[in-house]
Amino acid sequence: MALRPIICIPDNRLRLVSAPVERVDDEIKRLMDDMLETMYDAPGIGLAAIQIAIPKRVVVIDTAKEGEDARPICFVNPEIVWSSEEKRVYQEGCLSIPEYYEDVERPSRVKARYLDREGRENELEADGLLATALQHEIDHLNGVLFIDHLSRLKRERVWKKFEKIARRSANEPGHPAHDSREL
Ligand code: ZN
Repeated sequence: MALRPIICIPDNRLRLVSAPVERVDDEIKRLMDDMLETMYDAPGIGLAAIQIAIPKRVVVIDTAKEGEDARPICFVNPEIVWSSEEKRVYQEGCLSIPEYYEDVERPSRVKARYLDREGRENELEADGLLATALQHEIDHLNGVLFIDHLSRLKRERVWKKFEKIARRSANEPGHPAHDSREL
């Protein structure tokens, strides 16, 4: 397993629509292992492959709390097939937008269809944090970020802030501090 660098806005690769995976082979399994290691190290509770600059429809999530046993779930080609009318607001963050958190409203329950780590077809009904994480990560596969669910003003403000940080760090050795949690 290997840690992979996480890309952040304003990196436009985060806007790519990721391609479906044709077969869950050893390469995809290695990718999932690297994604889990990178996510736990960050630390975060979800990661989409495009966040490590791989435009494939692969997501890993583990919503276990600190002190609980790890509960990693790997999703290949995940698709939301049902979502509840009922909504829920959760303060979201993103490993690709470090240290920025905002309330986002999404359906409180969703059903997803996907291939699991062994390439088997699977379905999962999620609520709570898992439902939020799944929707957040599937958005990534479509080039959508959680800030796209905010007002244009807020989105432009955070994007500009990160452009400024990127310009500054291009002139300095090392990278900006990266100690956020989340997705
Ligand atoms: Zn994210």
